[in-house]
Order: sequence, then C-alpha cells, then structure tokens
Amino acid sequence: MKRAIFKKFIVILSLVLFLSGSIFSMAISDIMLDKTRNNLLYTLRMADFSIDYQKNLKEQVDSLKAIENEEATRFTILDFEGNVLADSNLTDYTKVENHSGREEIKEALKMGEGYAKRYSDTMRIPMLYVSCLSGKGDYILRIAVPFSGLLQYTGMLLPAILFSIGTTLGISILLANQFARSITKPLMEITEELRKLKEQNPEFHFKKYQYEEMNMIADTIMEMSNAVKESMKQIEFERMVRQEFFSNASHELKTPITSVRGYVELLENGLVTDEGQKKEFLARIKKETQNMTNLINDILMISRLETKEAEVVLSKVRVCPLVSEVCTSLEPLAKQCDVTIEMNCRPIVMTANTQQLKELFTNLINNAIKYNKPGGKVSVTVTTESDEVIIVVEDTGVGIPEESKQRVFERFYRVDKGRSKKMGGTGLGLSIVKHVVNYYNGTIHLESTLNIGSKFTVRLPKNMDEKH
Ligand code: ADP
Repeated sequence: MKRAIFKKFIVILSLVLFLSGSIFSMAISDIMLDKTRNNLLYTLRMADFSIDYQKNLKEQVDSLKAIENEEATRFTILDFEGNVLADSNLTDYTKVENHSGREEIKEALKMGEGYAKRYSDTMRIPMLYVSCLSGKGDYILRIAVPFSGLLQYTGMLLPAILFSIGTTLGISILLANQFARSITKPLMEITEELRKLKEQNPEFHFKKYQYEEMNMIADTIMEMSNAVKESMKQIEFERMVRQEFFSNASHELKTPITSVRGYVELLENGLVTDEGQKKEFLARIKKETQNMTNLINDILMISRLETKEAEVVLSKVRVCPLVSEVCTSLEPLAKQCDVTIEMNCRPIVMTANTQQLKELFTNLINNAIKYNKPGGKVSVTVTTESDEVIIVVEDTGVGIPEESKQRVFERFYRVDKGRSKKMGGTGLGLSIVKHVVNYYNGTIHLESTLNIGSKFTVRLPKNMDEKH
C-alpha cells in the first residue's frame, strides 16, 4: 500500500510538473515572440531612417546586416508589387520569386506592418519575418531572424531546469514517503492490535491518530469488541443458568427414581408380605411417579416458554371463564386440603395467550391451596385499572418468611421442601409465573406474613400488541 501511495504521488507530481511547465513555456514563448517582433520592428524603422533609396540598396542592406552581426539575419527591400529590390543574402534577384503572397508582406501592405513565422527553405531553419512600409516611398522593408521560441534558450536554461526538477522530485519523494507512512503506520498498528483477537479476552488499545477516518476505524473496532464481550458474557451466563437448571432437574428426578426402585425391589424380593404394607408401598410409588410427572411437565413448560416465545399466538381472552375453569379443576385439591376458593372476577377481555394465562392462574391458586391451613380460604380477584389487568391471589396460609420472599421465584427454590414434595410441588411453579409475567412486561408483587397468609398481585397490560 505504501508503495502504491508513493507511486501515485510521484505520477501526480510528474503530471503537475509537466502541465505547469508546458503552460509556463507557452506563456513565455508568447512574450518572447512579442518582444522580438517589437525589437525587429524598431530595427526596421531605424533602418528605414538611415537608408537612402536613391543609392545602391544592396550595399546598404549588406551593411545593415553587418551591424546586426548575426549570420542568419536577413534584410530585404521590396516594392509594393512584392518584387525584391535588395536582399542581404542574395545577389541574383532574377531567380527570386515574387513575395506579394508572403504573409508578412500582405499584412504590411494592409496594416503598415506584418509578421510571420515559418520554416525557411533557403536557410533550413525556423525564421521570424517582420516587415513594415517605408516612410520614404513605396518600399517595404523586411527583416528575418532565426526564431525557434523557447527552444532557442534550451541550452542556457537546461541546468536550471534540471536543478529545479531534481530538487522538486527530491523534496516530493521525501514528502510522499512521509505521507504514505502517515497512512500505513496507523493501519499497521490497528492490524497489530487486531491480532489480539486470537487471545481469550482481548483488550484493545488504540492511539489517537492524525486522520479522523483512522480514529473511526479504531472506535468501531472498540465498539464491536465491547458488543462481542457483552454477548459472550450473556452467553456464558445463560450457559451457566442452563447448566445449573439441568443439574438441579436431574437431582430432582434422581430422588424419586431411587425411592421407586427401592419400593419395587422390596416388593420384588417378596420380603413384604403384609397386604396393607404392600398397598402403602404401591401408593408411595404412585405418589413418586406423580411427582416426576409434575416435574417433567413443569420442565417442559419452562422449555416451551423459553424456546417458543417467538411462536406464541396472542388472542382476545375472556378472563373470568378461564379463572372459573382453573378453579373448578383445582376444586378436588381444595376439598382435600379443606380450603374454600372465592372468586371475584369482573368481565374482562385481554390480549394474551390462553395457555400461558392458564398456567399463571393454576400455579398461583394451586400454591394458595397447597400452602394453606385446614379451614383456610383462597380468594382470587381480577379487576382492571386504566390499561392494566390486576390479578390478586390471596390466601390464609402458612405465609412466606421475609428472607425467602425474593427467592421463591427462583427455579427449584422451596421454603419447606418436605411440605412442597408432599403436596406434589416441583419448585418451578412461581418461576413459570414470573416467566409469563415478564413475557407480558408485567409485574408481580408479593406480600406475606408468616402464619397469616400471602398475597400475590400481578399486573399485566390489557392490550398487548397481538403480533408481539
Ligand atoms: P412448589 O412447586 O414447591 O410449590 P413454587 O415455585 O410454586 O414451587 O413455590 C416455591 C416455594 O414458595 C414453595 O415451595 C413454597 O415454599 C413457597 N410458596 C409459594 N406459594 C406460597 C403460598 N401461597 N404460601 C406460602 N408459601 C408459598
């Protein structure tokens, strides 16, 4: 790249030198032509002044040429018809053709003076011809001098031209080199920093560069690196959560499987003979398998919530019939626990996914029954306030200690593990509720007093974007 910049720089510079040189030499040539023409005209007028047209003209033009002291200079005197009367470079005029067609003669006859530049066949060099009318009679005076413009001075100017080209090129090479370096050096440094990408946790450090574009590259890399770091952290966090979840889930499954195996082995060995005991063991096996089913169902629910969020279908849901349905399905459990359910529901229609909403109510009401006291009460209230649906599930149960209030929403967290297991709990119910609430950008709030009861208040937006 450095080479390419360098080369381009030199090419541009040579072009500039060539163009400016050409324009400059054209302008100088014009000035020179003008000056020479005026000088020659002046010489002609002086000659006209000194010539006596009655005397021998050839002698006079020869002596004028002698004064000029320039071999190629040529004086000519012509009449108005273009006939040569005298010429410093010729002796026999009979062979000389008529000059009336010559540019400088035509112009002189028309304007009083004229000039032309052309290649002289006689002298075999480019010549400048200047002519003017005599002030003493019908004569035309003409002077011709070799003239090749600026080329005439090439010899004299060559050292200066070579010197200036040399110095300009020298300085330019230095500058081009510096300029190319000022671009490639930051790029090399940025590339060097980027090699750190191979490292585990790259820390980039970029300097402040002279060119804003370089700083923009450095800043963008920094931003990208920070974004990558952030998402790596997120991925690592999610990996850990998942890992913890799987290890907890396997642990949760291991216990019931071990106990089921134990009961089966006892029954298999024929060690248990008592029919009552056999029945009890079978009932325990049934209970453990029910617990496992509950756990697997909850795990599946969580996995559905996590992975299928994009496919959730939202529709208008009438909340009251849905709550009624949940309460009815939980009625046997309520009876078993000697708990009464009170339902107070306004006719509300909200945008939601029926399955998710059902899951939310089931888990909250199920807990309110499970962790209640015999003769206790569960009240379910659904109301609206501006654009929100407010769901309150309150019980007169055992309550939740202060230090566990935040943690009950964690996966597999249980306050009283024994009671939870006995009631078929999995420790996942409230984390499913929290998941659903978060999906709707809602809030969940818990108030609880030990041995008095608990109150869960959920607020959800009534009209969520159906395409969400
Ligand atoms: P579980 O399947 O064990 O019920 P949850 O996630 O639903 O799991 O609840 C977590 C823990 O919070 C329960 O084990 C229980 O100790 C406590 N809990 C939940 N709801 C109530 C409630 N209404 N009253 C008292 N304790 C509750």
